[in-house]
Amino acid sequence: MVKYDTVLIRYGELSTKGKNRKDFITRLFHNVKYALRDYPDLTYQKTHDRIYIKLTDEDADEISEKLKRVFGISSFSFTEKVESNIEEIKKTCLRIASESNKKTFKMMTKRHDKSFPMISDEINRSCAGEILHNTDLTVDVHNPELLIRVEVHEKYSYITSDKIKGAGGYPAGINGKVLLLLSGGIDSPVAAYELMKRGLFVEAIHFASPPYTSEAARNKVLKLAEMMSEYQGSMRVHVINFTDIQLNIYKTAGDPYAVTIMRRMMYRLAERVAQASHCLAIGTGESVGQVASQTLESIAVINETITMPVLRPLVCFDKVEIIDLARQIGTYETSILPFEDCCTIFDPKNPVTHPTSEKSVHYETMFDYETLLNEAIEKQEVISVYPRKEEEEFL
Ligand code: ATP
Ligand code: MG
Repeated sequence: MVKYDTVLIRYGELSTKGKNRKDFITRLFHNVKYALRDYPDLTYQKTHDRIYIKLTDEDADEISEKLKRVFGISSFSFTEKVESNIEEIKKTCLRIASESNKKTFKMMTKRHDKSFPMISDEINRSCAGEILHNTDLTVDVHNPELLIRVEVHEKYSYITSDKIKGAGGYPAGINGKVLLLLSGGIDSPVAAYELMKRGLFVEAIHFASPPYTSEAARNKVLKLAEMMSEYQGSMRVHVINFTDIQLNIYKTAGDPYAVTIMRRMMYRLAERVAQASHCLAIGTGESVGQVASQTLESIAVINETITMPVLRPLVCFDKVEIIDLARQIGTYETSILPFEDCCTIFDPKNPVTHPTSEKSVHYETMFDYETLLNEAIEKQEVISVYPRKEEEEFL
């Protein structure tokens, strides 16, 4: 394992955000420091196109795992920072090659400082010569096992042999706040990930129907929220008691329309909570055609109850793609734990797939839902969750 003294972070979609460059960098800088808060000895420096982190004796793999979760980073590398003179550069390239356990290599130099007395090609040749002379490695320009990159800047140069892909997107929180309907299922945590990647700060709302839904089901949702909070530092979860509303729906609307009305009520509640929490949009894990309540007709009839924009990042994703992503972000195993959801408990046998507004409104006038909605909002519980510390997992 090659040892390096600096992490070099490259920014993500910065070019498209010209005028907001400063905000982007400031937020990313803050988010990177937050992600690495457990390492107090790191020192940070930000420039117009990079963040540099000086390492002391930290575990590179651990730092790498944390950085892969920070949105706004396009890539990062572990590098050795040396003074910009050719002897230092050569010496470091040789060390990296010797410590690498690789058989073939290639040099790649980029000269940011054009006043450096050698051009890139000369630097490549000089460093390659040093390695060829002192090790058994040979050059392979097409398919090298080890690619040594040298970046020459005015005062310092950075030498690295890896480039790790970052999460991309925008730094979490830079584009405002959205209220996500968070169930205990597979889809909504993935929706949270996609929204956060767009720089949105995600707050969550969950509908629980105790005693039909258990404490375990609720804890599972909080656990998912906690996992997703890792990407933005914390997450507020509004837990709404949905039991009375659901019981009334089943008494009045009966089987086929129950799901449609239930989801209309969820939207209404979400919009009100979103407004009170200064969220400008609602988010869901809906995907067209996945289940009865997600046909285009259903989405239209459900959506008409509110005016706030609804962001559905998974709308065109296949279930397989969603599952892949859930595995990548680590929520899949928790999502498939077999706890009942408020929807599954009251799941009707024949949900309508082509609901109409007229019928929905007809069923809704059969009970005083306004009072029930207000009560549910008044009694909501707001819980803040934070990323779990590694050692807590073992308690
Ligand atoms: P998920 O896997 O996210 O539960 P799903 O495929 O099971 O999605 P539905 O149960 O129809 O689909 O839910 C669609 C969306 O509605 C969810 O992605 C979520 O955003 C929201 N939702 C469903 N049930 C709840 C709930 N109990 N609390 C909050 N939001 C919910
Ligand atoms: Mg669900």
